[in-house]
Amino acid sequence: MSKKNNQTIELLLKKLKKYASNDDLEIIELAYDFADTAHKGQIRKSGEPYITHPLAAAHILANMRIDPVVIAATLLHDVPEDTETTLQEIEKNFGTEIASMVKGITKLGKLKYRGVERYIENLRKMFVAMAEDVRVMIIKFADRIHNLRTLDSLPPQKQYRIALESLEIYAPIANRLGMNEMKGKLEDLSFKYVYPKEYSRVKKIRDEKLRGKEILLKKIQKNAENEIKDAGIDVIDIHGRNKRLFSLYKKLLRKDNQAAKIYDLVAIRVIVPTIADCYASIGIIHKIWRPLKGRIKDYISQPKPNGYKSLHTTVFGESGEIVEFQIRTPEMHEEAEYGVAAHWHYDENGSRLPSKEVKWVKELAEVQKEILSKLSDLEEIKIDFLQTRIFVFTPKGDVIDLPEGATPVDFAYHIHTDIGNKCNGAMINEKMVSLNTELKNGDVVEIIVDKNRKNPSVDWLKFTKTHTARSRIKAAQKSKLTGWLKSVLPKS
Ligand code: MN
Repeated sequence: MSKKNNQTIELLLKKLKKYASNDDLEIIELAYDFADTAHKGQIRKSGEPYITHPLAAAHILANMRIDPVVIAATLLHDVPEDTETTLQEIEKNFGTEIASMVKGITKLGKLKYRGVERYIENLRKMFVAMAEDVRVMIIKFADRIHNLRTLDSLPPQKQYRIALESLEIYAPIANRLGMNEMKGKLEDLSFKYVYPKEYSRVKKIRDEKLRGKEILLKKIQKNAENEIKDAGIDVIDIHGRNKRLFSLYKKLLRKDNQAAKIYDLVAIRVIVPTIADCYASIGIIHKIWRPLKGRIKDYISQPKPNGYKSLHTTVFGESGEIVEFQIRTPEMHEEAEYGVAAHWHYDENGSRLPSKEVKWVKELAEVQKEILSKLSDLEEIKIDFLQTRIFVFTPKGDVIDLPEGATPVDFAYHIHTDIGNKCNGAMINEKMVSLNTELKNGDVVEIIVDKNRKNPSVDWLKFTKTHTARSRIKAAQKSKLTGWLKSVLPKS
């Protein structure tokens, strides 16, 4: 990896100055000096002084304009584990808030990917850390991103292990936390090491499709910007983004490798102040270029189940070029890029988004903690969490997320064990369906309960997907069996 000198403490402070107070800057400087002293003499495998690592991780978060308190903890994150300096000393110097984040990171430890059991252990640790303080995960992701960037200095075996762990554990969690930007970085940095051949193939496809189009795209972007501005709308930002390589790879797999079917290789993002401006802007864009049928998506009035909001449209640009536009407000943009981290992100005016209750994250962590503590079948859990998730709704509109392929029975057990056990039928989108029907994203699911039903059917094990449902069905079978045994065995 290149040794850039653009990751100094001076430049970090300069970045922070744009949104942090002078008191904050002072804490950052103190944290840097403290970590620098503690790591004195330590050298990374790359040959650089150790402090370059926490400093680089801090830069990643400062680029995202994350809360300075989190950045101070990032600078200190390896001190207790790797140096003589203790957590108590950190607490004495920096207070409990920063110390508790450092403690969370230290507890995660140097996670090692070694077989399923370690894997599950890692997941369990991460859920606990996440439940205690989501900020710990934000730091952990920055830490991992820098480790991936400097992976070349490690032996190939280790490179593969770390990249695989990032791809299979870290990226899905970042995704679940809505942290798109970090998810994308983790995936693309790992992709190269885990699937080197596919990586170069996909990169070639993308480069070929984009070759020579920069000027054309710039023209389209400029044109859109001018027209929107002429209509009296303030364009806060407009920029192009290339589709990330790993997500292009996954999409190509879904589209039978037909690159021609991929329309969002390049997207132009338009950030305008209000929702009304979003709708006005899409109208203006459609006046300039013809939209592709069926590709206009209103995720503002109907957000994606994960909360994603934006207007999307794909148009035929100059000389038939196909371009996707994504139109959103600054708030929508922050949520889309930073997810949970948006709540620790400072905007242009140095203020933060209102700290909403990140309820589902807590719920997720709670549920996983419970399941993992009662762990009986490691494989099932692993599959459960890392599978692609779908989001379905209760008739009241509550969102339930389940793994792909889940059925109404999985849904019923997710709501309550009793509902699962007494489940007798199901309606999807107001139509009666059989209990083994696969649920699809956005389905509204209603469970029909038979109060007199005593036990779930053992047949349900043939199609249920979640660990929760399967373990409860098995448990009910067991208690049925013991009940029956009790009734037939002679009383002693
Ligand atoms: Mn580290």
